[in-house]
Order: sequence, then C-alpha cells, then structure tokens
Amino acid sequence: MDLVKKIAVLGSTGSIGQSTLSICASHPDRFLPIALAAGSNLQVLVEQCRRWRPQVVSVADEALAAQLSTLLAQAGISAIEVVYGSAGAVRVATLPEVDFVVAAIVGVAGLEATYAAVLSGKTVGLANKECLVAAGDLILAAAREHNVDLLPIDSEHNAVHQCLRAGAPPEVKQIWLTASGGPFRNTPLEEFDRITPAQALKHPTWVMGQRITIDSATMLNKGLEIIEACRLFHLPPTQVKVSVHPQSTIHSLVEYIDGSILAQISVTDMRLPILYALSWPERVASDLTFDLAALSRLDFQPPDPLRFPCLRLAYEAAAASQNHCIALNAADEVAVAAFLKGELSFNGIPRTIEQVLALTPSGSPASIAEVLAADLGAREQAREIVAASHRLPSR
Ligand code: NAD
Ligand code: MG
Repeated sequence: MDLVKKIAVLGSTGSIGQSTLSICASHPDRFLPIALAAGSNLQVLVEQCRRWRPQVVSVADEALAAQLSTLLAQAGISAIEVVYGSAGAVRVATLPEVDFVVAAIVGVAGLEATYAAVLSGKTVGLANKECLVAAGDLILAAAREHNVDLLPIDSEHNAVHQCLRAGAPPEVKQIWLTASGGPFRNTPLEEFDRITPAQALKHPTWVMGQRITIDSATMLNKGLEIIEACRLFHLPPTQVKVSVHPQSTIHSLVEYIDGSILAQISVTDMRLPILYALSWPERVASDLTFDLAALSRLDFQPPDPLRFPCLRLAYEAAAASQNHCIALNAADEVAVAAFLKGELSFNGIPRTIEQVLALTPSGSPASIAEVLAADLGAREQAREIVAASHRLPSR
C-alpha cells in the first residue's frame, strides 16, 4: 500500500492552505499535495505549481484561469490541468487519486467543493467552519452515508477532538471553547464605534486571513465555532461554553460528568492541528514543541456580553433554526467586507447581523442548493441594511 497520502488543498494560497503545504514539505514521506484550488492570488499559486507540480489547479473564474495558463507556460511548467469556478474547485476536491481534502476556502464559497469531497468519499480536514454553520446537518448526513471521517482543523475543535478520545459521548458534561478575546478585550465600550480596520486586523495571538481576524475581534468567530461544535460533536448549544483565555495556550477543554476536565495545550501554530488531522488516527513526530517551563500563567474569564453581542447572536441563531445560522454567517460576510472597505463601523457589524436575523424566517433547507439560495437572500438583506446605515448620520 502507498503510504503517501495524496492531498487536495482547497484555499491553497491562504493562511491555512500555506500552512498545509508547509506540513507537506516537512513530511514528504507522508503527504503529497496533488491538486490545488484558490481564488485570485496567481503569484503565490504559480510558485506552488512550480514547487508541487499538481495534476489540477483551480482559480476563481475563467479570466484568472486564462492568466494562470499563460503564467505557467511562461514559467515552462506544463501538464497541469487549469480549471475554474465552483465546478473547478469541485474537480479538485473529487479527483479520483486524492485521499484527503483540506477544506480551507474562506466563507460559503467553500461549501460546494467541501460537500462534493464528502460525497466522493474523501477524508476531509475541515478548516472552513462556514460549511458546518450553513449546512452542518447535510454535510454530516452525507459523511455518515459515505462513511467519511470529518477531522476538525479549527484549533478549538481539533483540541476537543483530541480530548474526546479520553471518554465516551454520554460521559461528556460539556465542552469549553477558549477564545483569546481578540484585540479589544479591554477596550472601553465607548471607543468601539471608532475602531478602524487596521486596529481590528491586529490579532494578539494568531496570524490568520482577514475575515477570521475581524471575526475574532467581534467574537463572531467564536459564535460560528459554537455552532460548528454543536454539529461536529452532536451537542446542544447549552453544552458548548466559551471561556476567554488571553494566552491562547489551552486550545479547548472537555468536561466529563465525573468532574474531570481535559485540556489540550500546544503552540499557537495552525500547522499542529493540520498535522493532527492529516495523520489521524496516528500521531506523527514534529518540531512543534511547547515549552512548558516558559509557561508562567493561564487566565480565564467569562466573555463580556456588552462588548461582544455577536456571541449572543450566535447562540440565538443556533437555538432558532438552520436558516438563522445561514443568515448569521452571510450577514457577517457582507458586514465584514463593508467594514474593511470603510463603509460600516465596527459596531455596525453586530447591528447588521441582528437586523438580518430579525428578518429571517425559521426553516431548514433540504439541499445545498437551498442553503445557497438562503445565503444569497440574507446577503441581499445585509447589503441593503449596510447601504441604509451608510445614509444615516453616524451615532
Ligand atoms: P485566507 O483568507 O488566508 O485564505 C482563503 C483562501 O480561500 C485563499 O486561498 C483564497 O484564494 C481562497 N478563496 C477565496 N475565495 C475563493 C473562491 N471563490 N474560490 C476558490 N478559492 C477562494 O483565510 P484563512 O485564514 O486561511 O481561512 C480559511 C478558512 O479556515 C476559513 O473558513 C477560516 O474560518 C478557517 N480557519 C482559519 C484559521 C487560521 O488560523 N487562519 C483557523 C481556524 C479556521
Ligand atoms: Mg478557531
């Protein structure tokens, strides 16, 4: 049997995608990337093609595909199939030779390819939390039907996955997702409306893509992670708790019914959860060691509901319906993009989400097409709310 796992990386030019390729480079005897999908960063993609010579590469649209083909020809790189769009990402995710798909496209844009990977029986390492928020039930049902392992790469869920190996599901009392609290954990509330994109993009402990970094500053990221955890670990929202832990040393904890709490500690480096997912059920040696002697303190505090209304909104969406979870994510994608362009204030992000949720009818889509339709509708509403808030005098 071939011991080298053949990997498809969805979102190869992003933060998680690049960390995945770095793990492949450190473990060439174990992991070989053979298919890549990305958006529009052609410069990085050409370098990745030069290094890895994948069989197939996908980009966001047809024009980018034409540009990429030209760049590859100029670089003397041949025999790579260039595809594009969601069909292209699906082709990458379902290539027959692929054993393992790393799902790391940001946003609902990653949904169709991730779902297709599950349907074609690939093992999936899931970084894209938006998939589980928008279509968790459908993805998990497909995974059960096709006997597919879904391995969380999101560090908190990866930590929970590790801690759950210590007990049986009925023995779990609750899980604790840790949160750094982001850059505004101690910022006075009256300053929140003046927060700029540059300030919000400075995360204290993690280096990540733009959207998840802003989501960490509003804590909507933790809200999405609560829903992600409910889906992955079959728990109601009441059994998924959040603790603010500024050091980001404990990545999450599982509390068992006998009173034991298990925690996972490691460096704040996404290469470790990626390696864990790629290697599962084995563990593979790495140099990502944690210096316990340098650890001086671990702090925990409850999240502040006034500073972080997004957490409440996520619990409310989780309790309301699947449509509300879709709207929570879609409204946030639109609001974060508007905030980054200077068209919406920081406080405008939770305000937009709250208004979209209030307009959302309860319901549960029966197919990925229905999920995408609900997502589009919520985006449209969010855009209208953002445009209207732009016309109002600022508060
Ligand atoms: P990123 O912005 O750095 O990268 C996103 C990737 O998606 C890029 O390769 C981009 O080209 C690609 N992409 C965007 N739109 C696309 C489209 N329409 N078609 C094809 N590709 C497209 O984001 P990231 O930080 O790497 O995060 C990726 C995912 O992983 C997100 O869902 C995020 O929530 C999750 N995640 C990230 C981290 C982290 O540390 N970065 C941690 C946990 C979870
Ligand atoms: Mg996380």
